[in-house]
Amino acid sequence: MKTILSIQRLSKRYGKIQAIKDLSLKVEQGQIFGILGPNGSGKTTTLSILLDLIKSDQGSFEWFGEPAHYELRKRIGSVIESPNFYPYLSAATNLRLVAAIKESGADDIDRVLQLTGLEQRKDTKFKTFSFGMKQRLAIASALLGKPDVLILDEPTNGLDPQGIVQIRELIMMIAREGTTILLASHLLDEVQKICTHVAVLSKGIKLFDGKVSEVLAVSDSFELAGDDMEKLLKVIREHPAYQSHQVNNSFIQVYFKEKVLPGALNNWLFSQGVILSHLSERKRSLEQHFLELLQNNQ
Ligand code: ATP
Repeated sequence: MKTILSIQRLSKRYGKIQAIKDLSLKVEQGQIFGILGPNGSGKTTTLSILLDLIKSDQGSFEWFGEPAHYELRKRIGSVIESPNFYPYLSAATNLRLVAAIKESGADDIDRVLQLTGLEQRKDTKFKTFSFGMKQRLAIASALLGKPDVLILDEPTNGLDPQGIVQIRELIMMIAREGTTILLASHLLDEVQKICTHVAVLSKGIKLFDGKVSEVLAVSDSFELAGDDMEKLLKVIREHPAYQSHQVNNSFIQVYFKEKVLPGALNNWLFSQGVILSHLSERKRSLEQHFLELLQNNQ
């Protein structure tokens, strides 16, 4: 797999505030990589350093295996601030101005308008756009020149529920077309829904990084019920990965020390003479994991 971005021990201080500390990360081609953290955890600082908007105090980073330089910047699209265009000019004219600066061709404008679902509104003045449309235009503008990577800072902030869904779908579509995405968000739900990989930041320190699916795959417990609950309770304690259990009204909640697959559990219980009438896996959400990580870093 091709490494798109590699960060080594990046640190940045604003006076007494340590905004990021010793941050190392790798983003591979095709990932939708989420930097997840509460307000003030250093997300915007990190993205700003990666875009050369501010300088780090220590550490280094490479885009596409090379230290940042002007030509490489053309391969990176970004939306870091609230969308800002000429209010009295149309969407298409605003994009033409950006395309001229980026030296991307005119047909690229139609491509990005279509991709972001704005082609019907291309002749409408920017100032009449809804906030969601403004955000989509900002993404369209960042996509001019077909960047290999798209960087987004809190892409759904301030949007209504419908706008949020549109932007999330757009991000996933852009990723499907082959663009690697790096986004910052304080919303667990957002990262859980659209990212393939996540790094959790707290007070400028990386607490965790890995595949979102792996975080979600940690299956904490199962709800089990059978005709003979007493036998089920006796047998389940003998499972090699058994950790603990709770008896609820109509089922037993069983916790395991390690990952247990539902099919394997069912087979094992059957081999011990227990027939289940109910088996339901309870996955630990990224939210629980995130909160645990933050608590441990208090
Ligand atoms: P938010 O979601 O609130 O923007 P964030 O995770 O993006 O948070 P940063 O904006 O990177 O975090 O801020 C990290 C820390 O650095 C915060 O404590 C913030 O107050 C501080 N900070 C950021 N920019 C500056 C600055 N220009 N001068 C002083 N302190 C700053």
